[in-house]
Amino acid sequence: MGKNKNNLDKETRLKNIENAVREILINVGEDVDREGLIETPKRVAKMYEEILSTKNVDDFENYKLFDVDLGDSQEMVLVKEIPFFSMCEHHMLPFFGKVHVAYIPQDNRVIGLSKIPRLVEFVSRKLSVQEEITVNVAKKLIEILNPLGVAVVVEARHMCIEMRGVNKIGSVTRTSFYSGEFKENADRKREFLDGIRDGKF
Ligand SMILES: [Zn+2]
Repeated sequence: MGKNKNNLDKETRLKNIENAVREILINVGEDVDREGLIETPKRVAKMYEEILSTKNVDDFENYKLFDVDLGDSQEMVLVKEIPFFSMCEHHMLPFFGKVHVAYIPQDNRVIGLSKIPRLVEFVSRKLSVQEEITVNVAKKLIEILNPLGVAVVVEARHMCIEMRGVNKIGSVTRTSFYSGEFKENADRKREFLDGIRDGKF
């Protein structure tokens, strides 16, 4: 999962990014001293600091588990249409869309519902690819909850496809991950897929 962070302080890192952005601007033929661009390297540096802030999914620790008496119901917990934004690691252009997450608790172990969107945000805020986000959300839930099954579907639009391709505007890429019950039991999988269909509440 990438190299270790360098040990430079934040100020130096921002300054380095700023200088690199200025180089890009010069080399695509821009006049970096024109009014619209004067503050741009600084703004871009700050923006990267914000949207690429998470380097490693293993750092996600801020979650709470609950014990809920679920009897032996084995119903799935579904959180759907969680918005996310990321940057593709091949072109450094945005890709964004929705994540749908479901799991079937084991031993009455559940996680706070608000933590699932936070987990999605956490794994998205770095240079990544859609497949990696899909797997990392699933793997983290498996690690935390040891559930009877996890299902993750990610639907996203990729600017590196849409801005560069021909007739690719609005195309959506779907990736999925299934484990346990969702993988082995076709009814479970269908229940999940029905549940994430648009407009169903
Ligand atoms: Zn790309």
